[in-house]
Amino acid sequence: MDSYTTPVLSISHITKTYKGGKTAVKDLSLIILPGDIYGFIGANGAGKTTTLKSVVGILNFEAGKILIDGLDIQKQPLECKKILAYIPDNPDLFDQLTGLQYLNFIADVFSLSENDRNDRISKYAMDFSLTEALSNLISSYSHGMKQKLAIIGALIHQPKLFVLDEPFVGLDPESTYRFKEIMKEFVSNGSAIFFSTHVLDTAEKLCNKVAIIKNGSLVASGLMNELTNGESLESRFLEVVNG
Ligand code: ATP
Repeated sequence: MDSYTTPVLSISHITKTYKGGKTAVKDLSLIILPGDIYGFIGANGAGKTTTLKSVVGILNFEAGKILIDGLDIQKQPLECKKILAYIPDNPDLFDQLTGLQYLNFIADVFSLSENDRNDRISKYAMDFSLTEALSNLISSYSHGMKQKLAIIGALIHQPKLFVLDEPFVGLDPESTYRFKEIMKEFVSNGSAIFFSTHVLDTAEKLCNKVAIIKNGSLVASGLMNELTNGESLESRFLEVVNG
């Protein structure tokens, strides 16, 4: 048996400097494997969003390399975007569409068959109690409903890599619970999730791996149980960032 598994995401030594001179990410490397739910934590301004946007091809970076399932995000952006999904911290959806029109639009972009799109839309809408609201205009949705619609839109093409910035903000307790279950089911098929969060107890329970970023540099990463080593993630985090 081949013992080498292609990482779903490989970040090697990336550095990103914004116009104006701020180096937000410095020589950062990280490997994410099939089945990983990888949490990404750090203080405000530490460089999480900059890293996530670099991974999904929204931001350019001046040094290093990012591979999505072996494909280079800077050289093969379209091929990479076909196999990833990204939800920013404040998703901007098309307000003038209904939820269902939006999901069908996404399904068209990813050339999903009629059967696949219908099955997945009805499954995820049911999971998130959004079935009835799908016929309403997105402009009438609450923040949490928009977040749920964005999640369904991201999942219907079954990406290999799912990247999320602060995904639990605005979700009610039941939706949070359902989403965590969906995340676990999703990675069981060989996909992976990489998400930033400030909700450390959720990350501690949900993620098998975690990375801590401070001032643009990775200061700890690896298996959650090895990193916490019997302590809470919160106390380990405080030790690492203040140490
Ligand atoms: P938060 O937890 O507050 O969302 P973050 O870890 O996601 O923070 P980033 O948004 O990646 O942090 O920001 C990292 C650094 O880069 C910060 O110092 C920020 O001020 C800076 N930065 C972010 N976007 C830009 C930009 N467009 N131009 C210049 N500097 C930026």
